Amino acid sequence: QKARRPLLAANWKMYKSVADSLNYAEELVRRADEWVDLPADLLICPTALALWAVGQKLASYPVRVGAQNLDLGTEGAMTGALSARLIRAAGAQYVILGHSERRQHFGETDRLVAEKTRQALDEGLMPIVCVGENDQENQQGLTTRVIQRQLAPVLEKLSPVDAASFVVAYEPIWAIGTGKVPTYEDAQRVAQDIRQGILRQWGEEAASAVRVLYGGSVSPDNIGGFAAQPDIDGALIGGASLKVDNMVRMVQQW
Ligand code: PEP
Repeated sequence: QKARRPLLAANWKMYKSVADSLNYAEELVRRADEWVDLPADLLICPTALALWAVGQKLASYPVRVGAQNLDLGTEGAMTGALSARLIRAAGAQYVILGHSERRQHFGETDRLVAEKTRQALDEGLMPIVCVGENDQENQQGLTTRVIQRQLAPVLEKLSPVDAASFVVAYEPIWAIGTGKVPTYEDAQRVAQDIRQGILRQWGEEAASAVRVLYGGSVSPDNIGGFAAQPDIDGALIGGASLKVDNMVRMVQQW
């Protein structure tokens, strides 16, 4: 039994209308007896448009909702932006930050991700900070170095008191949406590396409170192997999370 409570997070990306999101939430509720008593936290990260409505629908169940990004600032003349405070007020408890798609398509830097992480914590949101190497970096054996570079500015802005609210998701870019996954041993080794890096800065107690997730082509067929790893505390799931049946089957295996 791991000391950290497992977290299974669904990242819906730019999928599902508000209506489709609500249908999903209703189906999840209909099947509640299959998952409510399991010892893992479920998290749904729909589009920002559906966040409030999905959160309302699931309010009396052990499911949290989260956002997929936030913009810096609290409120003001910032057309199109969504602050941590507004996201929190819409019912979110978590926010995914620094997803590789945000880094790639929206130019997010390690430093910006660090600032967003600080802002999330200051506004009462638990950040899930995504890190991971690309294919080339993987082949060159640079995984640890890349992740340390991505996490360094984040850890600089945080302190050990943030540990219990801080989640890191190891997401190798070459595994996202590709059907490819690292071996369970490799994923465990990276998760352990991440925890070791945190331990060096924050000490044992804080490092053992941080949850480290694995993400990248997680499915009902492979999740059991990740769940068995001592330093992997849950999963960040894209494609496979879009179907209720998959989500139920995955949480049952954690
Ligand atoms: C993700 O978007 O974080 C992800 C891991 O996607 P997928 O599960 O589809 O690879």
